[in-house]
Amino acid sequence: MAGVGRRPNIVFIMSDDHAAHAVGAYGSKINETPHIDRIAAGGMRLDNCFCTNSLCAPSRAAILTGTYNHVNGVKTLSTEFDARQVAFPELLQAAGYRTALVGKWHLGHGGVHDPRGFDHWDVVPDQGRYHNPVFIGMDGTQRTVPGYATNVITDLALSWLDGLTGDDPFCLLVHHKAPHRNWEPDAKHLGMFEDDLAVPDTFFDDYSGRATAARQARMRVADHLRIDDLKKILPPGLTRDEEALWKYQQYMKDYLRCVQSVDDNVGRVLDHLDERGLADDTIVVYTSDQGFFLGDHGWYDKRFMYEESLRMPFLIRWPGVIEPGTSHDALAVNVDFAQTFLEAAGVPAPDRMQGRSLLPILRGEHPADWRRSVYYRYWEHDDGIHHVWAHYGVRTHTHKLVYYYADGLGVPGASDRTYTPEWELFDLGADPWELRSVFHDPAYASVRAELTAELARLQDELGDEPYHLQESGER
Ligand code: CA
Repeated sequence: MAGVGRRPNIVFIMSDDHAAHAVGAYGSKINETPHIDRIAAGGMRLDNCFCTNSLCAPSRAAILTGTYNHVNGVKTLSTEFDARQVAFPELLQAAGYRTALVGKWHLGHGGVHDPRGFDHWDVVPDQGRYHNPVFIGMDGTQRTVPGYATNVITDLALSWLDGLTGDDPFCLLVHHKAPHRNWEPDAKHLGMFEDDLAVPDTFFDDYSGRATAARQARMRVADHLRIDDLKKILPPGLTRDEEALWKYQQYMKDYLRCVQSVDDNVGRVLDHLDERGLADDTIVVYTSDQGFFLGDHGWYDKRFMYEESLRMPFLIRWPGVIEPGTSHDALAVNVDFAQTFLEAAGVPAPDRMQGRSLLPILRGEHPADWRRSVYYRYWEHDDGIHHVWAHYGVRTHTHKLVYYYADGLGVPGASDRTYTPEWELFDLGADPWELRSVFHDPAYASVRAELTAELARLQDELGDEPYHLQESGER
């Protein structure tokens, strides 16, 4: 079997806010991603890979450290990452891997916030810019690189790869800024998607049947996109529904044009590995830091534990180890990635890591003791822009329980509204779009009891504190 005796190279390509339902290999109805799909064709597609907190910085911290956000400290966009905590790149580096990070870091800059464990890093400040991006190098100096961010990030990543000599394996993290808001495409993709795109069935969702939080969120395509998102003036004389649909087309087409550049550049990386004769010895992953609402429920953005936001695309190729063209429905989380790479490299994972190596899954096995539920927690309560309320929950293969626990939370700068804790329970088989909570339906009493207990078990196992206990200082 390949992979034994020789440690694989790792190329980890992560985009920002690229939802699985805008990936061809996941059955997208609105775009094609032929190059990302090549990874799926040559390897495995994970069909139930989820983030543990649908937000950029928290997901990145979880991926690097193999821990949940209450452990790595990055609960929100305003809680900083201390890069001195153990993360998989430095463990690979210590084991003889050459390591590099190019592109979006988004975990702070300077001192303890700078990337660690990399032979080379070259990152964009915060969100970075789409056009002529600024980069911060390892010596702390900033420079502007002409070009389009997704192309430039790929150029710089491949340039580092080409500079390597010797046979030691490498781990290269290619972190795209795209397709993050405000969705500025490369000029060469501006002509794509002339015809109108299909509109999600839930676009005109009225949020009945769910907790108040869904109605209170301010991330509706119809109401909350800004002029710098839309980049065009609304045509006069449209009805309210026509306006919403016009905005959807503007938003979605620019988003997909940005995705197209990501796909082109994934193709460049794959071609480069082929040309260099490296493909057979290299694990290639394509993922995104979390999902995104593509007009689903009338929204853009993420944050909620609803499926479109929770699900991450995860495609992985490892010739000789992963059977080409396969998929797996095991429940995976972003916290698993670190241990997966470490096991692939033959490096022991520290006890602090809280995930589980996906290698048995990638080999097509179905371990009897694999997890049957995943834990989620969105900490950034009512942030003053998107106004999504803090919540935690559990998802199994068939159901999802969500608790909006916000009662009593102080919210600096936000309204002084009082929050009432609310629950949601979804039957994902009967209601895949999560339109009708059955939490109060007597027919679901036993499911509700099971999932409530499972949520408590997960919090105990992972060391997170249920909100009411946290507040009262018990435990
Ligand atoms: Ca993101």
